[in-house]
Amino acid sequence: MIPIGNRHYCTVQGETVKEVMCERCSQRFRYQLHRAATGECVNLLWLDNRGAAETAKDAAEVLLQRRLSREIDVVACPRCNHIQGEMVRSFKMRFVLFGLWMCFFLSIPSIVLFAFTLADFSLFRGQPRIALMALAVPVAAAVALIIFVLLNPNFANWLTKMLRGKPTL
Ligand SMILES: [Zn+2]
Repeated sequence: MIPIGNRHYCTVQGETVKEVMCERCSQRFRYQLHRAATGECVNLLWLDNRGAAETAKDAAEVLLQRRLSREIDVVACPRCNHIQGEMVRSFKMRFVLFGLWMCFFLSIPSIVLFAFTLADFSLFRGQPRIALMALAVPVAAAVALIIFVLLNPNFANWLTKMLRGKPTL
């Protein structure tokens, strides 16, 4: 790649207080949400170093404010220990996405082996069989994850147990 400038990054951190009213017992409670965000700006032809640094900082601030206003943490109600439905849904989504990324990552070697097999490029004997076996592990993990998180009526209880005692304000 031909260098056409330099890149500026800026990371900012912030926190906000979230107020929740428990959907089960109507208790109001608060917790602190911490987030960090990174902004980026390319300084084309090194013309405006200072401007690029500021643009990166502005982008980071915008992203940070968006994350602080949109994102939530999983915090149990201090009175009845209930975890709000919205928190469970948001946690499930993050958990599943992270798990599926991991499964995909683990299946890359198999995918490469299959690609080699299709291209008639054999590294060792029994290559397709081994590729298939290696693929079975992440596929089984992905299925187990989906059953555990999405089809399990006790997931919210499990989450409550896992996070019991988390400090609230
Ligand atoms: Zn409650």
